[in-house]
Amino acid sequence: MEKLVSLAKRRGFVFQSSEIYGGLGSVWDYGPLGVELKKNVKERWWRSMVHEREDIEGLDAAILMHPKVWEASGHVAGFTDPLVDCKHCKNRFRADDPRIKGTPGQPDAQCPVCGSRGTLTPPRMFNLMFKTFMGPVEEAAAVVYLRPETAQGIYVNYLNVLQSSRQKIPFGIAQLGKAFRNEITPGNFTFRTREFEQMEMQFFVKPGSDGEWFEFWRHERMKWLVGLGLRPEKLRFHQHTREELAHYAKDAYDIQYEFPFGWNEFEGIHNRTDFDLSRHQQFSGKKLEYLDPATHERFIPYVVETSAGADRTTLALLCDAYREQEVAGEKRVVLQLHPALAPLKAAIFPLVNKDGMPELARRIFDDLRGRFNVFYDDSGSIGRRYRRQDEAGTPFGITIDGQSVAQDGTVTVRDRDTLQQERVAGERLAGYLAEKLRT
Ligand code: ATP
Repeated sequence: MEKLVSLAKRRGFVFQSSEIYGGLGSVWDYGPLGVELKKNVKERWWRSMVHEREDIEGLDAAILMHPKVWEASGHVAGFTDPLVDCKHCKNRFRADDPRIKGTPGQPDAQCPVCGSRGTLTPPRMFNLMFKTFMGPVEEAAAVVYLRPETAQGIYVNYLNVLQSSRQKIPFGIAQLGKAFRNEITPGNFTFRTREFEQMEMQFFVKPGSDGEWFEFWRHERMKWLVGLGLRPEKLRFHQHTREELAHYAKDAYDIQYEFPFGWNEFEGIHNRTDFDLSRHQQFSGKKLEYLDPATHERFIPYVVETSAGADRTTLALLCDAYREQEVAGEKRVVLQLHPALAPLKAAIFPLVNKDGMPELARRIFDDLRGRFNVFYDDSGSIGRRYRRQDEAGTPFGITIDGQSVAQDGTVTVRDRDTLQQERVAGERLAGYLAEKLRT
């Protein structure tokens, strides 16, 4: 993990937020390569959900919502973690922190940081939602929350989307966007952060068909993740036990990835029943029933949710792609990212900066950059330039040499993973890349 964090910073994937001020706890910024990688993940998700399916519509709801939304959803009352404080060293922990010996609040309990006994307070509930104020006055009536999940924006727009899109049940609404949680024990790089992006899809179905749709989406999501190039042996389902299930959920599976710090959830598929729409109907006083045009039945749809984190998915991809290899007696670090997800698709190198090579290389670069995110590099030995691109995960290295200029206009294309080089005609490069990047 340390190596990956250092590569992420060195190569411009991820930086600590406000680093020159010492950083802000568990908030991260995506640099030039990171923003491309994460954008590619999000675009692929959007394409597979919204563009490739007729039965899912897109939505972009605001982060700020009416405060009643969070009462209806249960977040005001229940989105909490139990916390204990050490009265001696002032550190704060989750009550279930495995390092705490004894029962917090009792004289036998020992602080895991300073070692004092009997200084831990009894657990108190702490709400994970960020609060802020709307309008010019800072008073209770003006409190609004930064959304802790994107799903509620979908539920409150369910009727708007249904009516404007003329969809019929079963259908879904997909949304991508920021969510905020004041996590108590954040950490593990971008795995658990206080500001993150979710990719959520809520699928509205007739009660009774929810089990089938749940199975469908569970398998569909796993297929999609394997399609991103994640190694299948690093992926598994974890079905929630009775104790883990949210009170409103009928069934739930996490999809876990084996991160360097262990197996952890990065996506969840939940059968949320009619809980959310029923609650919003109750709290808003607006009917959210569906009238089946065929049977004339009225019902509140059940919801099957697929909820993924764009940041955790991106982190899983980085962990999965990171390799250290020995090539011809030399060590190389390479990110074997799926070519369609790689931030840069190709790098263009004039072998030397003379004999017409830079001019031809520039022409090729200008021709390709309208269609692909490509990079021009003419500094350092060719070996060093290849290694820099290996670390960035760039799938193809295009070198313009003497033969390109003086003989036949072909260039060499080096494959990041196989290290094979082949000569391709300059004018065929765009087609060659398009073919390789398809899928
Ligand atoms: P965890 O148990 O890890 O806190 P959760 O069960 O609360 O996660 P959900 O509420 O189901 O997570 O959120 C759906 C997805 O959103 C998660 O699978 C994860 O990818 C992402 N996510 C949730 N919380 C965070 C966070 N603090 N930082 C980054 N991503 C997050």
